[in-house]
Amino acid sequence: MKEAAVLPMLLKQLRLPTMSRLWKEMNTEAVEQGWTPTRYLKALCEHELSDRDNRKLARYMAESQLPRGKTLETFDFRAIPSLNKSRITAFASGDVWIKSGKNLLIFGPSGVGKTHLAAAIGEKLVEAGYRVLFSRTTEVVQKLQVAKRECNLVSALEKLNKYDCLILDDMGYVQKDQTETSVLFELISERYENKSLLITCNQTFDEWDKIFMDKAMTIAAVDRLVHHATILELNVESYRKRAALKATKLQKEEVEQNQRASSLTSAAGNADPASDVLEEEANQAHV
Ligand code: ADP
Ligand code: MG
Repeated sequence: MKEAAVLPMLLKQLRLPTMSRLWKEMNTEAVEQGWTPTRYLKALCEHELSDRDNRKLARYMAESQLPRGKTLETFDFRAIPSLNKSRITAFASGDVWIKSGKNLLIFGPSGVGKTHLAAAIGEKLVEAGYRVLFSRTTEVVQKLQVAKRECNLVSALEKLNKYDCLILDDMGYVQKDQTETSVLFELISERYENKSLLITCNQTFDEWDKIFMDKAMTIAAVDRLVHHATILELNVESYRKRAALKATKLQKEEVEQNQRASSLTSAAGNADPASDVLEEEANQAHV
């Protein structure tokens, strides 16, 4: 049939890969079930749209560079009692803050779960259909410095605007002594009241003059970041350290248990019937 030969080409030209893949078998089903042409076309369109969403999600997830396995499902909220789970879940849906280009700043010492939480929120944002990029702050700074040297800073900053949320992990590791950090200030200014930043940092604002070139730039950067921001402070003991201590304690308990078990076994092996009698007597005396 001529139509049947032409249709795959037309669907390909129209960039409808799912319809191209399914039209034939669904046509058979439609004939068998007595579907109207409208129902058949609607079913094909629905498959195309659903596959398109899945492909988009997979693309956004791949481009996000989020670390694997750091999800809200694996985040133990009991470790940080001050953190409200439903508030974090609301953040992860993104609607209010991402749509209005607000920021989220997560502070706390090393090992408390800042990166895990940021990545987990990022993953949920991608699932909600937002575009996210996760990066160490030092890497972004290096790339922007290269762009600046090549007189491409404006277009490099504009390229980052396609991301609804830019996660800058470990802002505190950027040091002005090693690098020229005005590009970081340019990035913050570019996104101000425009696109969201999610920043993790182990240094409080009063130490940020180690990051930026001078005091005025530090004040201006902090000002822009906090103007429309939520700040989460994770001031607990390092999760890593607690996990290591727990593991050491468990190991110690296991060793002690093994030692007890082996001393009991050897005592049983050397058992002297007389000592049993003595023990029995002692027990009776105690009763
Ligand atoms: P930070 O970025 O604050 O230095 P990380 O997010 O890298 O800390 O956390 C250190 C390790 O501990 C990671 O493997 C992380 O997955 C884990 N971790 C930290 N906090 C939690 C938590 N509340 N629940 C589950 N895992 C956690
Ligand atoms: Mg971290």
